[in-house]
Parts: sequence; C-alpha cells; structure tokens
Amino acid sequence: MSATRLGERSQRLVLALAEAEVDAMLVTNLTNVRYLTGYTGSNGLAVVGERTRAFITDFRYVEQAAAEVDPSFDRLQAPLELVDRLEEVLPAGPLRLGFEAASVTVKAHRELREKLPGRIELVALEGIVERLREVKEPGELERIREASSLADTALQEVLERGLAGRTEREIAFALVERMHHHGAARPSFEVIVAAGAHGALPHAEPREVAVRVGQLVVIDWGAELDGYCSDCTRTVAVGSAGELEREVYALVLEAQLAGLAAIRAGTPARGVDSAARELIAAAGHGEHFGHGLGHGVGLEIHEGPRLSQRSDAVLAAGNVVTVEPGVYLPGRFGVRIEDLVVVEGDGGRILTSISKELRIVQ
Ligand code: ZN
Ligand code: ZN
Repeated sequence: MSATRLGERSQRLVLALAEAEVDAMLVTNLTNVRYLTGYTGSNGLAVVGERTRAFITDFRYVEQAAAEVDPSFDRLQAPLELVDRLEEVLPAGPLRLGFEAASVTVKAHRELREKLPGRIELVALEGIVERLREVKEPGELERIREASSLADTALQEVLERGLAGRTEREIAFALVERMHHHGAARPSFEVIVAAGAHGALPHAEPREVAVRVGQLVVIDWGAELDGYCSDCTRTVAVGSAGELEREVYALVLEAQLAGLAAIRAGTPARGVDSAARELIAAAGHGEHFGHGLGHGVGLEIHEGPRLSQRSDAVLAAGNVVTVEPGVYLPGRFGVRIEDLVVVEGDGGRILTSISKELRIVQ
C-alpha cells in the first residue's frame, strides 16, 4: 500500500469529520485502523483530525507498526490499555472527539470518559470510515479481482475431480486447500457446500454427508488475499438434474442477470434488489427468497452498500457488490447464483469468470 494512498484516505476522513461536526476521531475498529494506517496487527488505534495523525499500539506490535503504519502518523507505544496515551496526541483546548459507536463497548466508553479531561466531548459516530471504504481505489479493485480469480481456479479444480461420493466437508476442505495453493491467506468466510435439501438453508454448514447423484449442490466460497475478500456462489448438478431443479435454476439465473443489468452508478440499491426480486415473486417463489440480493465486499466479506429492500444506499462507481438471488425450497433443494461486480458509471463489471450455465458434474 503506497503511503500517498493511505494519506489520501485520512484526508477524505477529515472532510467527513467536518460534516459530522467533530474535530477528531478515535478509530478503534481494527479493519478501519488497517484501512487508514496500513496496520494489520490485533491491538492498535488511530486518531485522525485536521492536524492529528496518531497511531498507538503496545510493545508487542512496535516493530510491526514501524514496518506497516503510514509515515504520516505519529507512532506511540502505550501499555496494553492504549487509551492511556490518548490525551497526549489530541490538540489542546475544547475538543469534540468522535468515536465508533459500533466498536466501543459501554464499559470502554465509561473508561474513556474517566480517563479524558472534561474539555473533551465524546461524540458517537456510525459508519464514517465504513462509508469511505465502500468506494474502492484501483489497487483495492485489483486485489479483489485477484482473490476472485484464484477462488474461481480453485473451484474448477475441485469440480473436475467430481463431487459424487465425497462428503460436503471433504469438498469444502478441498476448496480451502486449493485456495491456499493458489496464494490465498485463508478463505474469506466458512465455505458452504450444501447438497440436496441442505441447500435450502442459505447459510448451511458442510456436513459429513456424501453427495449423491441427482442432487443439486450449492457451493459458496471466497478467498482472502492481502486482506481483501472475494465471494461467489455456484449451484451445480451431480450426474443429472430433474425438471423442477432445471426450472428453478433458470429462474434464479434470469433474476441474477436482471439484477446485474440494473447495476450502475447513481442507481438506488433497492432498485437493483427489486429487479431480481420481482422476477422471482412473479414466478410464485417470493417467499422462497428471504434474503437481500447482495452486499458490498472489501476488507470485510459483508460491508456496504447492501442491496436490499431496506437499503437507502445509492450505488457509486468503485463499489464492489455481490448479486446473489436464491430460491430455497424447504425439504427439497436450493439454488443460489452469486457474482462479484464492480459498479461503474454505465453498468457493472463482473469479476467472477465461472460460467453460469447449469453445470452437470460427476
Ligand atoms: Zn457468497
Ligand atoms: Zn455473498
């Protein structure tokens, strides 16, 4: 990560802080700390204000911080209680200090209040750095594309060996092994391999149950590379596919393509969800599609913007989102098809390279 990029992120944050009417922000969410400073360790905080760039960690991470943290930040070593050195990095005088409401516990907030002098007013903030993260820079897009591409390769290799007779867990572990082989640091979430009726659970856990000929298998997997995640789902048929299975698959694919076609910068996320959802509802499967159409992906596997009926987001160029409609028939089977997409001015650029024709594997 180049120093200038990281410096620009803090500058964008300072503009957002002015809008939120705070003078500085205490950043404790480690993903956000990483985004702003480059630090990848597990204990550290950042303070960003118009003239403040400070990073505090404990003795275990001093060397790592020296190697990773952007030089625009002053680096301080503190006891394990990092906020013990917070006051000294803050500007003098009355100060409105924002903190991340979603990552500061009630207990931590009380301690913060006790340790800081009365001149510092604590202001709860929500989603400020997260919203900056929603628009990816070219370097971030490249990492996500690479993570997605190696995950695609891993799946192809696993499918070529055939699925029949292997357990869901064996298949999931094989995918993880192939992703490691191709350079992933880890899977970006617990791989889902769900055959037959188990596939009707959108978040199914792989079981010690062998996959049989005639079943549909939902496979949802992703790789993490340099901190960035990928996310994809394919549903494949083992040996053969029944008529109902083919019909539902065609419907989900049609809905997925409609969702993809609705993506462009400036479009409300809710409208993209509707484009896919209306097709599924019109086919009588509205109640079998119980989740949102998609979510943002980046340093975290689930981030903004969300594509759903409850989302107020408007898509922006540089967002990376999934489009993943599903139809889940309880006790029978499920179908989900998911691609990873970069939002651009005139449409969506799909990062996933695997075909979406219903694939029959051994
Ligand atoms: Zn997924
Ligand atoms: Zn997803």
